[in-house]
Amino acid sequence: MPDVNSTCVINLRSDTQTLPTRAMLEAMCSAPLGDDTYGEDPTVRRLEALSAERFGKEAGLFVLSGTMGNLVCLMAQTNPGDEVILDAESHLFYYESGGLASVAGLMPMPVASDRGWIDPRDLRNCIRACDIHFPVPRIFCLENTHNRGGGRVIPFALHRELCQIAREHGLSIHLDGARIFNAAIATKTTVLEYASTVDTVMFCLTKGLSCPMGSVVVGSSEFISRARQIRKRLGGGMRQAGVAAAAGIVALEEMIERLADDHFHAKLLAEGISDIPGLSVDVSSVDTNMVYVDHTSTGVSTENIVERLRNCGVIADGRPPDQLRFVTNRHHDSATIQEALRRIRAAVVDNR
Ligand SMILES: *Cc1c(COP(=O)(O)O)cnc(C)c1O
Repeated sequence: MPDVNSTCVINLRSDTQTLPTRAMLEAMCSAPLGDDTYGEDPTVRRLEALSAERFGKEAGLFVLSGTMGNLVCLMAQTNPGDEVILDAESHLFYYESGGLASVAGLMPMPVASDRGWIDPRDLRNCIRACDIHFPVPRIFCLENTHNRGGGRVIPFALHRELCQIAREHGLSIHLDGARIFNAAIATKTTVLEYASTVDTVMFCLTKGLSCPMGSVVVGSSEFISRARQIRKRLGGGMRQAGVAAAAGIVALEEMIERLADDHFHAKLLAEGISDIPGLSVDVSSVDTNMVYVDHTSTGVSTENIVERLRNCGVIADGRPPDQLRFVTNRHHDSATIQEALRRIRAAVVDNR
């Protein structure tokens, strides 16, 4: 079985598989450093200031991961026992090991969505009045782009309408913007627009932006000072973290515009896959760098398809019982995609 990191393997599992660029590695070597727990790492401070500026917020905080960033944002804006309203298919609800319940002590109120698009009426209907029988509804979370929704963009008009409803009910608003730059690039808007109607945003440096680690949260200065203490409490106080933050600065300065290439390659991949018998994909649903593929017509299990693909030199993510996920990133060009399509066809058609 080919090794995941072998250069001949085409790894389409996730944009988290990206390696740091040469410019990042060089920046990491020469970054001025200090002890960040004392607020004395100039490179971390620069990344935090740059991030805040990008999002039009007062301050930023460098955290170890997106999961930690989301948790810190929730904890800084809630009390244990409060209710958090969020998409039932959101990363926060689905993939963060239940941290919002076990660590933050929050009560989730999951709302259904259509691949990440929450119907404003559903949001309205699930926000309950204050009553001693209910937990206190405190915060509403959005996710953009939407991971389990296939990298789908939540358009700004819908985003704004949902935020308005949450505000009418006095809720704080957090945006899980792990891939918010993909959303902004795909819609030719800026992250400023999305950030303007929410209190806090978390974005990942490690996805398409290719950093080896880290996420950033942004919000008001008052929020960030609370978040800083919570990060410390969770074990996220770092020392010469400028080593990692240096890569983050390169990401913000050099890696955002090129996300458009990943989106182009995802479309190319989706179009090619739609011609392969047994696989079906809604090409028009590919907004950004993800391609979700339905393999029901192959008649075999997700596990089996993933294994066959792997044996043909393509790594994909299985989404049982009937889906595969492919994600493009900066290590793929058009030739890589064409070769991936040949291999996927071989795995699915020739291997029957
Ligand atoms: C990846 C991701 C996260 C979490 O980031 P980690 O760094 O993996 O903890 C949060 N939300 C979304 C939508 C993600 O895709």
